[in-house]
Amino acid sequence: MTMKLDGRPVVQYLREDMKKRIAKLAERGQVPTILIIRVGDREDDLSYERSILKNCEILGINSVLAPLPATVSQEDLIELIEKFNEDDMVHGIMLFNPLPPHLDLNVIRKTINPIKDIDSINPANLERVFEGNVKGIAPCTPKAVIEMLKYYNIPLVGANVAMVGSSLVVGKPLSMLLLDEKATVTLCHSKTKNLAKITNQADIVVVAIGRGKFLKEEYFNDNTVIVDVGINDDGNGKICGDVDYDQVFGKVKAISPPLGGVGVITTTILLSHVIQACEGLNPIE
Ligand code: NAP
Repeated sequence: MTMKLDGRPVVQYLREDMKKRIAKLAERGQVPTILIIRVGDREDDLSYERSILKNCEILGINSVLAPLPATVSQEDLIELIEKFNEDDMVHGIMLFNPLPPHLDLNVIRKTINPIKDIDSINPANLERVFEGNVKGIAPCTPKAVIEMLKYYNIPLVGANVAMVGSSLVVGKPLSMLLLDEKATVTLCHSKTKNLAKITNQADIVVVAIGRGKFLKEEYFNDNTVIVDVGINDDGNGKICGDVDYDQVFGKVKAISPPLGGVGVITTTILLSHVIQACEGLNPIE
């Protein structure tokens, strides 16, 4: 029987701890506060914004919205970020990206104070992840995958993990987090030879390639644990993962679903970083 790695119980579990930490901060007269900077009106950003606001309300986290026109200049955007870097009432800064083409994310992301960089887009935070420095803020999706595996008691120490996809947002930082857990990681990409052989030899396969239903049953065996990070349009207006969930379900040990899987945990992790920043547990070294 295949176990479904449902993200929602993981969210409930994480929220319990977060609520306790928020209550402790309230005793100190502090309310964790997130600033959301949205440039333009991309539907993806609006949808993520709605999800963040809903979760803020559930948890009791303050939110401040800074919607900017798609035509905003780089100087004005940086000025806004710098203003909130200095504002003690704001603990975490979330900047939606991709940005319009006239804005240079590589420059802008470095202006977010690493202490407030809750989405871990400042290279200073990524650097800490690669150093194995637990005080840094790790990117939310990789951390969501780790939380999911831990919640379902999937052993990581000594496990062989095939990480399929090597982007800077998911595959590379997640490989580092898995290494920190003492897993043995094989990092795969579009030029990897014999991918099916590698995935078949792995205990855990994490997939983040952005290709709908690309991995079929021949990539797995009945002992494989699959975490599917992919979010794709299946061409019929439905969301699908990078793994062919319907074909694979029933033939592997465990698999996360395309909806209600890793994605739902990501927002919770983002808000846990706001709490972490408010607690002052993220010193720059
Ligand atoms: P990305 O930047 O496009 O990177 C894709 C990676 O997959 C690259 O390393 C690429 O290899 C590799 N790849 C592409 N085709 C492959 C193949 N046939 N075999 C093996 N590797 C292959 O994508 P991303 O930003 O990491 O996102 C990946 C997926 O995760 C997307 O569906 C995205 O929507 C989803 N996502 C979900 C969340 C969430 O919270 N659930 C968050 C972020 C992303 P090369 O480097 O060789 O090109």
